[in-house]
Amino acid sequence: METLEQLRQQIDIINLQLLELLNERARIVQEIGKQKRGHGIKSFDPIREREIFDLIEKNNQGPYETKALEHVFKTIFQTSLGLQENENKKILLVSRENQLENTVIEINGVKFGNGEQSFMMGPCAVESIEQVRAVAAQLKEQGVKIIRGGAYKPRTSPYDFQGLGLPGLKILRQVADEFDLAVISEILDSKDVKPALDYVDVIQIGARNMQNFELLKAVGRVNKPVLLKRGLSATIEEFVHAAEYIISEGNRQIILCERGIRTYEKATRNTLDISAVPILRKETHLPIVVDITHSTGRKDLLIPTAKAALAIGADAVMAEVHPDPATALSDAAQQMNFTELQEFMDEMKKFLMKLQG
Ligand code: PEP
Ligand code: MN
Repeated sequence: METLEQLRQQIDIINLQLLELLNERARIVQEIGKQKRGHGIKSFDPIREREIFDLIEKNNQGPYETKALEHVFKTIFQTSLGLQENENKKILLVSRENQLENTVIEINGVKFGNGEQSFMMGPCAVESIEQVRAVAAQLKEQGVKIIRGGAYKPRTSPYDFQGLGLPGLKILRQVADEFDLAVISEILDSKDVKPALDYVDVIQIGARNMQNFELLKAVGRVNKPVLLKRGLSATIEEFVHAAEYIISEGNRQIILCERGIRTYEKATRNTLDISAVPILRKETHLPIVVDITHSTGRKDLLIPTAKAALAIGADAVMAEVHPDPATALSDAAQQMNFTELQEFMDEMKKFLMKLQG
């Protein structure tokens, strides 16, 4: 009769043999994975699994029951599948893994991605040349170099103001040139990308279009910076992959914009996911903007959320400004008027001085 100690020694030897065999099996699985990739065949193959189960059943002499062994082998199959899929996973072009240093994008003398922190502001929608001109004059006075404004508006209701379209882009360009500003404006449709190139300095892809893959590919094929907003309920992984659609077509000038996501919380229009900023910073090499207007939907939260965005390292803050917000054709409740803009910028300038120590 063998002692307990002897039996345990035998188990240890078998475990080591199993370990060696499992790893040997894994190496063959990797080789199979390589061949499958070469032939464009999927890793998971249920017919092959069934064949292996049948083989086990035919040869099983116990004491394990075949069902129990199937369970063990199922775990081995799944672990092997994980091995193949890890190898299939491509390193994304937008990832830090692919490019260690930050992508720096320069727009109208303002750099994004090099540690500078700036503002992009303007009305929710372009309504008239007078309206845009009034805002532009204020921005110029505040040292803001990029004016935003929607000419194509993605509205919840088709009966709401849809934007002025191309004439709206022309207004933006004309006024921006008068005040030496750069223009950022949203494009909703692939067919409008090319015509917009003459008028905008940055193409905005809005939250509702974050997964409009054809539009992403279309802006990926032009030589113009793109500001990509996070989708209404998009995970960070989906957001990063949306950016990958753009970069995979060749355009590397992408700025990510956290603009809040839909949650059960009703106190704000959306929930500003402030931790997305350092996560995106860690996982990608792209500049990051925080939109404090659409994330909060509340004027009383603009200053604290902008401070949070700057403190956490955002490259820029986006906010909406209108000469008379009460009469605005969209987002009337949340745009700053000029007095509020002045107060906001005074606070920001003080805060940035403190931050920069
Ligand atoms: C906008 O910035 O004009 C806008 C519509 O924002 P979002 O796409 O983030 O809702
Ligand atoms: Mn708006």
